Amino acid sequence: MNPLASNTAPVIVVVGAGIAGLSAAVRLRQLGLRVQVMEKSRGFGGRSATRRIGRLGFDHGAQYLTVRESALADALVPLIQRGIVAPWEPRIVHLGSNGRRTPDKEAKRFVGVPGMSMLGRGLKGQSTVTLGTEITSLGLRSDGTWTLFDQHGAGYGPFAGVIITCPAPQAADLLASASSKLARACGEVEMLPCWATMVAFDSPLRLDFDAAFVDDEVLAWVANESTKPGRTVQPECWTLHAAPAWSRDRLEDDADLIAREMQQRFLQIAGATSAKPGTCIAHRWRFARSAEPRAHVDLLDPVGRVGVAGDWTQGDRLEAAFMSGLRMAEELASLVDCADR
Ligand SMILES: Cc1cc2nc3c(=O)[nH]c(=O)nc-3n(C[C@H](O)[C@H](O)[C@H](O)COP(=O)(O)OP(=O)(O)OC[C@H]3O[C@@H](n4cnc5c(N)ncnc54)[C@H](O)[C@@H]3O)c2cc1C
Repeated sequence: MNPLASNTAPVIVVVGAGIAGLSAAVRLRQLGLRVQVMEKSRGFGGRSATRRIGRLGFDHGAQYLTVRESALADALVPLIQRGIVAPWEPRIVHLGSNGRRTPDKEAKRFVGVPGMSMLGRGLKGQSTVTLGTEITSLGLRSDGTWTLFDQHGAGYGPFAGVIITCPAPQAADLLASASSKLARACGEVEMLPCWATMVAFDSPLRLDFDAAFVDDEVLAWVANESTKPGRTVQPECWTLHAAPAWSRDRLEDDADLIAREMQQRFLQIAGATSAKPGTCIAHRWRFARSAEPRAHVDLLDPVGRVGVAGDWTQGDRLEAAFMSGLRMAEELASLVDCADR
């Protein structure tokens, strides 16, 4: 427990233990509030995820982190010192539809070690997170505090304030009965899906790039996971991300069919059609990235003390998620500060 948060400090609930939820939780504790994080899945980090298949590991969601804001840079220092975040310096190219490759010159990239899920575990710090609990509704009590209900009807609370960090369409559903203003704002945001395919090769492909942005109807990004720090080198593991329009058109297709098609397209583009894939599995991200990354303002309902954070409120990247959680924690804490302390 944060020594600054007394046993009588108001408790704020954060829905979602992705990067936005975890950064909000840490900031709320720093500001002297008690925090409870509720997460529907069995792990931390949300879309900053790693899928383990036997001894293979794939970052099937976020690939890497870029850092521009000093608050994120500061938060990463202890994680880098502990070795759970490290720079990744891949040979990245842009693969055009005409097969031309131009080197990529993006800023420095960081990854979790041994997988991107470590970013969530590292940022969680001392926060209390209840896993495997999907919040399905919010109920306002007569004293102005909140009770949250899970998928089994169990209630949690009372909470002096709420921060919702789910992808926008899910946040809209959750907020429908709690704040029509916020539900409307979330409902206006479109999030695009993404099929991700994880494929392993017993023999190295020996390509002249480690990752590529792909200008193609089927694929948008491919990365050799084995070139990231702390990964298994053999078999060689690749993550392939499909293009947004293709993902949307094929969203309800059979996952095995999708995996096969994406893997074949990758080998065609890479000029490695004789390679023999082993494990090949597709994952469907229904809400991968915001369709129009831009800053959404006024995502706090001061009357009910309910706020919304998440990557889509500021862009479509991990850094946006981190900063959005931090900012909403500060906004909400200032309200609770006035009213309850
Ligand atoms: C395929 C893909 C590739 C990407 N590549 C990159 C990249 O290379 N670099 C980059 O910076 N970003 C990348 N991103 C974007 C990045 O992953 C996101 O910006 C970031 O992870 C979003 O964090 P978040 O906390 O806002 O949301 P999320 O990570 O979605 O976290 C929300 C959390 O809320 C939980 N939740 C949802 N509903 C409920 C509920 N009702 N009750 C309880 N919990 C709930 C979810 O389980 C989840 O854990 C990528 C995303 C995808 C999908």
